[in-house]
Amino acid sequence: MHSPLLIILLVLLFSLLILWIWIERWHLILPSTIPALKWMGIKRILKGEIVNALLYGRWIPQYVKFLSTITPHLGPRGKAWLENGYHGKILTPDLAKSIITLNQDVPLQSLSERVIPYARARDIVLSAPLDIVISHCGCKTMRAKPCRKFSPPYETCILIGKPLTDYLLEHNPTTCRRISPEEALELLEKFHRSGLVSTGWFKDCIRDQFYVICNCCDCCCLGFESIRRGVRQLTSSGYVAKIDREKCRGCGQCQKSCPFKATQLKGEKSELIWEACMGCGVCVSNCPAGARALVLDEAKGLPLDVRNLTPP
Ligand code: SF4
Ligand code: SF4
Ligand code: SF4
Repeated sequence: MHSPLLIILLVLLFSLLILWIWIERWHLILPSTIPALKWMGIKRILKGEIVNALLYGRWIPQYVKFLSTITPHLGPRGKAWLENGYHGKILTPDLAKSIITLNQDVPLQSLSERVIPYARARDIVLSAPLDIVISHCGCKTMRAKPCRKFSPPYETCILIGKPLTDYLLEHNPTTCRRISPEEALELLEKFHRSGLVSTGWFKDCIRDQFYVICNCCDCCCLGFESIRRGVRQLTSSGYVAKIDREKCRGCGQCQKSCPFKATQLKGEKSELIWEACMGCGVCVSNCPAGARALVLDEAKGLPLDVRNLTPP
């Protein structure tokens, strides 16, 4: 007779095998999985980060939905875990485009805490020419009533670099497609004009690295939602909006377009709420009078500018 322990073990192993085959889209192993596992490295696999990575890479909307559900119940340690392992740096339109146009290797390095003010997930490495994949937005897809600012299929996540891009394409063929740098630039411009905020994301289970330029709305994005729930998953670009009061016509367009509620009308003129400004630049392109510009502000940290990271 089999012992109950042996039966439990067999059921567990069988369940894990089914889960694995499900992740692999009903294959034993897809070709892109092998380089992805090598890239993760044995240490991260043994630490269990691989489980987080596989679930994220295969079911992004469901993963985001799960985080959105648990976030309100997290205590201080849970909130710190989420912030430190998964966060986005606001990118001005120029900074986002400079990643796509750089066309030079960026050696693997850990960014300063002044750029990424979190305990981990601060690494960056880029290999020219960039391999780029666009994917459906997990945050918008998982909403019952998604975005007011963009229409389906919500292709707003620009993922960068092999072997991650190959893995995502092969494991999510209906929601990802490869694009050229030229198309990526056109899309960034379109996103910016639509009032979306570009954000560079870093994640613990993606080797603690930068891996995607997301283009986010305040209504659906997990990062914005987290801020509202006291989890600081987004950090400033390092810029703030400056207002030329002479040019300002008091039309209120900046107040309507600002995703961080960082601008208000006082009397006939627009005024910045400095503490709330994240330096995204959305108001700059929405001002009909050309009265707004982005200026560096050291008190907001330093920008993520890949042009400063290339070897001399
Ligand atoms: S972070 Fe932004 S673009 Fe990325 S999945 Fe969320 S809302 Fe979509
Ligand atoms: S959009 Fe420009 S002109 Fe209109 S209130 Fe804002 S700063 Fe002034
Ligand atoms: S004021 Fe302008 S730059 Fe600052 S957060 Fe709002 S839209 Fe972005």
